Amino acid sequence: MNNLYDVIIIGSGPAGLSAALYAARARMKTLILERTKVGGQIVTTDEVANYPGSVEDATGPSLIARMEKQVESFGAERKKDNIKEVDFSGKIKLLRGESEEYQAKAVIIATGASPRHIGCPGENKLIGKGVSYCATCDADFFQDLEVFVVGGGDSAVEEAIYLTKFARKVTIVHRRDELRAAKSIQEKAFKNEKIHFMWNTVVDEIKGEGILESAVFKNTQTGETHEYFADEEDGTFGIFVFTGYLPINNLFKEKIQLNEGGYIITNDKMETNIEGVFAAGDIREKPLRQVVTATADGAIAAVQAEKYIENNF
Ligand code: NAP
Repeated sequence: MNNLYDVIIIGSGPAGLSAALYAARARMKTLILERTKVGGQIVTTDEVANYPGSVEDATGPSLIARMEKQVESFGAERKKDNIKEVDFSGKIKLLRGESEEYQAKAVIIATGASPRHIGCPGENKLIGKGVSYCATCDADFFQDLEVFVVGGGDSAVEEAIYLTKFARKVTIVHRRDELRAAKSIQEKAFKNEKIHFMWNTVVDEIKGEGILESAVFKNTQTGETHEYFADEEDGTFGIFVFTGYLPINNLFKEKIQLNEGGYIITNDKMETNIEGVFAAGDIREKPLRQVVTATADGAIAAVQAEKYIENNF
C-alpha cells in the first residue's frame, strides 16, 4: 500500500505547510495535497508585515516559498491532485483524487476560506493593485489615500475603522440603507469623522491599467451609475471588500461537523468530531484568520495527529 501515509494534509497554505513541517520533523510519512497553486490566500498579498519575524521585504509568495523549502527539507511529500471525495468512516481514511487514491492514518484539513468577491468586471485583474480583501495586510499601502470599503457587516465596519488610521478618507459602500454590523460597532463608525457612507450602492465595475484608477458605483434603488476617478495627485485609491468569507468545505459537508457559516468546528487540539481527522487554519471556526494563527493551528494539529497515531495504530 504505497499510498498509505501516516498523515495527509489537504491544502498547502500556511496552515497546511506548518502542519507538514511538524509532521515530517516527527518522522511521520507525510503527504501534502495541493489543488492548483501553493500558498493559499497569502500569496495574493504583496507585503507581510504582521507575521512575527518577517524579513523587511517579505511578500506573501516569498514567505510561502521559504515555508515550502523548509517543509521539503524535512522530507514531506507533495502532490498536485484535486480531491473529489473523502471517506472518513473507517480507521484508515480514504481520499479520492482526480489522479490517484490515497490512504492515511490521520488527515489534517487545511483547505482555507476565500473572501467573497464583488463579482464585478475588473475586480480580479486589480487584486493586489488597489483591490484588497485584508485591511490588516494592506492598509499600510493606502497612507493618506482615499479608500472605499464594500460591505455592511461587522468585518466591513471594523476594518473601515481600522483603515482610518491610514487612509485620508474611508467610504463604506453598502447595498442597503442600514448596516448589518453590531450596534456598538456602528456607533464607533458613525462617530468617526473620517468615515463616510454611500447607502444603497454597489460596485458595478473596477477599472485601471496595472493600478486601480476608477470605479463605477450603482445606486440599487434608482439604477443610476457614477464613475469615481482617483484624485489626480494620488493617482490611485483603494477598494477593500468585506462581503463575507466562504469556507472551502465542499468535500466535508455532511461528513464533519460544521457551524452555521460552514466552518469546521474543532476543539483547541484541532480535533474535529471525527477521530483521526483534524482541521487547521481558516477553514476552522475561529476568531482571527491570519498567517500567525494558521501556522499555530497547523503545528498543533500535526502534534495531535502524531499522538493519535501512537495511541491507535
Ligand atoms: P457578514 O456578516 O456576512 O456581512 C457581509 C456584508 O456584506 C453584509 O453587510 C452584506 O450585505 C454584504 N454583502 C454580501 N454580499 C454582497 C454583495 N454581493 N455585494 C455587496 N454587499 C454584499 O460578513 P462579515 O462582516 O465578514 O462577518 C462574518 C461573521 O463574523 C459574522 O457572523 C460577524 O458577526 C462575525 N464577525 C464578528 C466580529 C466581531 O464580533 N468583532 C468581527 C468580524 C466578523 P447585507 O447586510 O445587505 O446582507
